[in-house]
Amino acid sequence: MIDMHVHTRRCRHARGSVQDVLAVARLRGMRYLGFAEHLPLPASLLDQDPRAESYAMPESELADYVAEVLAVASDGHGTGPRVLLGVEADLHPGNEAHVRRLVSSAPFDFVLGSVHFLDGWAFDDPELLDGYDRWDADRLWARYFEDLATAAASGIADAIAHPDLPKKFGCSPRTDPRELYEAFAEAVADAGVAVEVSTAGLRKPCAEIYPAPGLLAALNRRSVPVTIGSDAHAPEEVGYAYDAAVAALTDAGYREAVVIVGREMKEVPL
Ligand code: ZN
Ligand code: FE
Ligand code: FE
Ligand code: ZN
Repeated sequence: MIDMHVHTRRCRHARGSVQDVLAVARLRGMRYLGFAEHLPLPASLLDQDPRAESYAMPESELADYVAEVLAVASDGHGTGPRVLLGVEADLHPGNEAHVRRLVSSAPFDFVLGSVHFLDGWAFDDPELLDGYDRWDADRLWARYFEDLATAAASGIADAIAHPDLPKKFGCSPRTDPRELYEAFAEAVADAGVAVEVSTAGLRKPCAEIYPAPGLLAALNRRSVPVTIGSDAHAPEEVGYAYDAAVAALTDAGYREAVVIVGREMKEVPL
């Protein structure tokens, strides 16, 4: 079992410490455990949106986070999972320089790139669902995938997280998303980055893995490597619904996933 996307309480909207998460991963016999705490947001965003304080760890804790994960990564080999130091970075347009600066400040094994904001609106925040009334669904989906392709092309991230996140609360495009899927698959293939298969969607109103089967099949046709993540926001969610992720990957034609160690992809059989 691998889980390349887990959070801790440092991001202010998850439970559990690094040790708590690691304890569950040990119990479940995980092989790889990738911490991917939300990278601190830029001051410009924190200033304009008071809710943003609970979206990511504060910049004042980044060094502590790095030290804490590196400490557990360097001990206990053979008795538990290989622990990897990662972050989940917000890669909406305009945030690249901020992310580059923070990512270069520590020896991260991997960087997940996410788009959680559209024009400053955190569309995955359950308290901000009225934003969906202000967007045409097709325009929202098109714009999201455009920003996601730009994020992939930036070269900052090793893998793109939860690639069809706009479906989280049930928003779906009116028209067939196949063209969006194909364009995104081509963009990530060109960029040489991986895409995450996330079981978090199974815990949300959409009740579906990210990405949808059609998107995963498009990725497989272009041989885009995939990581697996639970996006655990509590220790008991580590490795969540792993079998469902493997089944989705197998159905799409995958025989292996990748983990990312020292910014290098490493294949792991399913
Ligand atoms: Zn989160
Ligand atoms: Fe995310
Ligand atoms: Fe996450
Ligand atoms: Zn996430």
